[in-house]
Amino acid sequence: MPIKKAISKKVVATKSVGKATSKAVAKKTSTQKVNPTKDESGLPLSLVIRRRIQAQKARFHANDNIAAFIKPGELDGLVDEVAEKMQAVLESLVIDTDSDHNTKNTSRRVAKMFVQEVFNGRYVEQPTLTKFPNVSRLNELMIIGPITVRSACSHHLCPIMGRIWIGVLPSKESALIGLSKYSRLTEWVMCRPQIQEEAVVELADMLEKKIKPIGVAIVMDADHFCMQWRGVKDRDSKMVNSVMRGAFLKDSNLRREFLSLLDKR
Ligand SMILES: [Zn+2]
Repeated sequence: MPIKKAISKKVVATKSVGKATSKAVAKKTSTQKVNPTKDESGLPLSLVIRRRIQAQKARFHANDNIAAFIKPGELDGLVDEVAEKMQAVLESLVIDTDSDHNTKNTSRRVAKMFVQEVFNGRYVEQPTLTKFPNVSRLNELMIIGPITVRSACSHHLCPIMGRIWIGVLPSKESALIGLSKYSRLTEWVMCRPQIQEEAVVELADMLEKKIKPIGVAIVMDADHFCMQWRGVKDRDSKMVNSVMRGAFLKDSNLRREFLSLLDKR
């Protein structure tokens, strides 16, 4: 049962992370210089990757990770392909990128931003999570957050900027993960075009699978720029939503404790 709740207080910030992109940036190969956006048979790289995914009958929606289908070095080729097509978009917008020095390299900048930064969570593998056995057999409520969220809506590719709190009630048998890993995992899920409701569910599924806790709770509170920059242009609208699993769903006292601790910090 989703709980909608307004959260207004500013809370002590934990660090958000920006490391997921470095791997992709480092993968430079010389082979793409010949014909960067096509494979040996002349097919566009995006089509080659798409066919690999389809052959496995896998899904490749905007918020899916497709790292398993991308070979080393291909991300640079994808940047080149996106840059070419982004240039065509600018031309269709009747922008003179030849003489306008501000937009001269915009197509490439946008392509790099999409592939290597803001949608990078689609293209790189899940961050490795070191798991620790629950030696002291902790079974108290843990709250991690706020974790900074930077994402974009699947509908308009407009930014979504917000915060996430994660509550975990570990069991004595749970495998625990380091605190920074919650941020890494959150960033990996959010660095894709997303819908807030689906993003928190995906994160909750992942945490349940990894930690096997008695309960997981997630609250996300975010500004959606497609409501502020365009559309209704309502600058103050926010979306807050939550997922409650296991003990958080069954035990209203635990749920209340989690939510009250978010308000106070
Ligand atoms: Zn939108």
